[in-house]
Amino acid sequence: MEHDAHGKPGWVVAADGGRPEGRNCSHLEQPAPGTGLPGAAGCAECAARGTTWVHLRACLTCGHVGCCDSSRGQHATAHHERTGHPVARSAEPGEDWAWCYADEVFLRPAP
Ligand SMILES: [Zn+2]
Ligand SMILES: [Zn+2]
Ligand SMILES: [Zn+2]
Repeated sequence: MEHDAHGKPGWVVAADGGRPEGRNCSHLEQPAPGTGLPGAAGCAECAARGTTWVHLRACLTCGHVGCCDSSRGQHATAHHERTGHPVARSAEPGEDWAWCYADEVFLRPAP
């Protein structure tokens, strides 16, 4: 299936009751869910250390898969801090939200 990389944004800012209204994100042109994401087998950095993770996040810029902030390694956040890649989506089955580290907003797929 073909997807248009220069089409409309793949994401919109999600309503978040715990945060002020009107926050924006300048990274909505990231690939929409289901486009070009690798299979998330696990957190490679945890696997290398022999530790476990709780949930997985996938970087929308490069496809890096790391563990969430509830995990001991927090490798998804570490990846953002190392690379500056702004957005990671949930790599959990059935979850389609993403988090923008730069703007600190939740994103959901554009309708
Ligand atoms: Zn953003
Ligand atoms: Zn990890
Ligand atoms: Zn990345």
